[in-house]
Amino acid sequence: MIELKTPAEIDQMRPAGAFVAEVLTELAARVAPGVNLLKLDQIAHDMIRARGAESCYIDYHPSFGASPFGKVLCTSVNDAVLHGLPFDYALREGDVVSLDFAASVDGWVADSALTVIVGTPRSPEDTRLIEVTTAALEAGIAAARPGGRLGDISAAIGAVATAAGYGINTDFGGHGVGRTMHGDPHVPNNGRAGRGLPLRPGLVIAIEPWFLETTDKIYTDKDGWTLRSADGSNGAHMEHTIAITDDGPLVLTAR
Ligand code: MG
Repeated sequence: MIELKTPAEIDQMRPAGAFVAEVLTELAARVAPGVNLLKLDQIAHDMIRARGAESCYIDYHPSFGASPFGKVLCTSVNDAVLHGLPFDYALREGDVVSLDFAASVDGWVADSALTVIVGTPRSPEDTRLIEVTTAALEAGIAAARPGGRLGDISAAIGAVATAAGYGINTDFGGHGVGRTMHGDPHVPNNGRAGRGLPLRPGLVIAIEPWFLETTDKIYTDKDGWTLRSADGSNGAHMEHTIAITDDGPLVLTAR
């Protein structure tokens, strides 16, 4: 079911968006060679506690997950691109690390992700991958306007990826956000403009392009969660929670 939020409800979602943005800003600043993924998770956990927020991930146990997630942050490094389960790993110079974080504040959820390179990039391809994924997110957000269709968002994301020569995997994409992390509609990272759900003020969705450098195939790591590229190439993931308003898209998780 598609839920539309009132302007007052969208205002109530702002603190969750601001908190998720604050956590990702802090974590991105902490990313450096030698920093352990478990430390990043711990920092996020401490910030959740200090804020009186609730993690959306720690008890998360969907059909595709091996067991409850058990952490509050997804850390996907290099060939990992989504749902990375933090483990005892110290970041290295040139690693490509995606951080995906969702939390509930005052009963409302926000969900956001970013990808950064640890220190000096290992290759120009890594830098380009992040730039293109960022541009795809921006294009998707720009298309999230009243009067449009859901397919406009998908098509805008897909066009950026295709122009850059990246394949697109549509198994995982964006989603409705509200009192819970995942609601309708699904927001695929490719599609046809002018098709699908009419975009109306009050629709709140996470838009989240993710691409791999040289494949669109993924597999699940033996940890039961982390999704990795089939060919070992690096991945990037960028996500914001946005509300469609009369004035256009409002980025609730803006940093
Ligand atoms: Mg997310």
